[in-house]
Amino acid sequence: MIKKKILIQLDPDTHASVFDAVVAIDAGVDHLLQYRGVKPDQVRDLVHGAMFTRGPEDLHSTAVFVGGSDVAAGEALLKAVTECFFGPMRVSALLDANGANTTAAAAVLAAGDHVPLNGSTTLVLAATGPVGQRAVRLLAREGARVRVASRRRDRAEAVCEAVATLVDGADLESLETNSPETTAPALAGADIVIAAGAAGVELLPADVRRGYRSLRVAIDLNAVPPAGIAGVEVTDKAVERDGTVCYGAIGIGGRKMKIHKAAIRKLFERNDQVLDAEEVYAIGREQRELV
Ligand code: NAP
Repeated sequence: MIKKKILIQLDPDTHASVFDAVVAIDAGVDHLLQYRGVKPDQVRDLVHGAMFTRGPEDLHSTAVFVGGSDVAAGEALLKAVTECFFGPMRVSALLDANGANTTAAAAVLAAGDHVPLNGSTTLVLAATGPVGQRAVRLLAREGARVRVASRRRDRAEAVCEAVATLVDGADLESLETNSPETTAPALAGADIVIAAGAAGVELLPADVRRGYRSLRVAIDLNAVPPAGIAGVEVTDKAVERDGTVCYGAIGIGGRKMKIHKAAIRKLFERNDQVLDAEEVYAIGREQRELV
């Protein structure tokens, strides 16, 4: 008998994310079991309930999704989940707290639709947040030269150090960008800019962007006005502006949603997958190859 697909949603927030629940159901999950306010020391009993019920041959029909708004808390939960596993006794798990993995994957894939990432020069503005850090990681793995920007150089440097430990041969440069005067030189010679700043913060004025005709792709992930990249509309999806292909947050969001659903479906193919930024990106790339 084919077992129903059960997804266990672990969320550190007061309320389990409705967004994550809707996506799970739209992705074809039969039963969603939601746990909220979850702390790492509570994970073991929850995950053991998933591991010890259905028998090894059916473990691929049960999976774990770690979500919620706090990405660091989500990372701690995912670690606690994977520490429960031994031998064949495991279920697949996906981390997409605050949409960080799916958003970074969608942004980097969109950039790669227009510019070969290997050897490109990419500026990631506000690269210190969860989305920006993941974008840096994925770009570095693709062989891009990544300029890692923050309002504070030490924060940018910390991201470079963290990514360098994960990606052999990563080509990273830390930059301080906190004004049009400091952002302009960071953009010089860049092929791609990804603005990963907090909601409602302009990071790149329009006149600075227009000053660099070599810029081929501009991606703004902030959906809340004012735009992170002035002049890029939130709905832009490969819209050419001043010779640059532009994407806004909603323009990236469609692909992000497809990747999220595909990642949920992937969980139920096997019981031994841990889907974090790189794996989620690979799922997005598979989808691109299918189109
Ligand atoms: P975040 O952690 O809220 O912020 C990212 C970075 O923005 C911070 O590390 C900080 O960098 C910078 N920042 C914060 N406040 C600032 C201010 N007042 N002025 C200038 N810079 C400021 O963001 P995130 O969670 O990584 O998300 C990045 C963006 O993606 C957000 O706009 C988010 O809403 C969006 N998002 C979009 C989707 C989608 O589906 N399209 C999904 C998820 C997230 P420094 O302190 O180092 O400068």
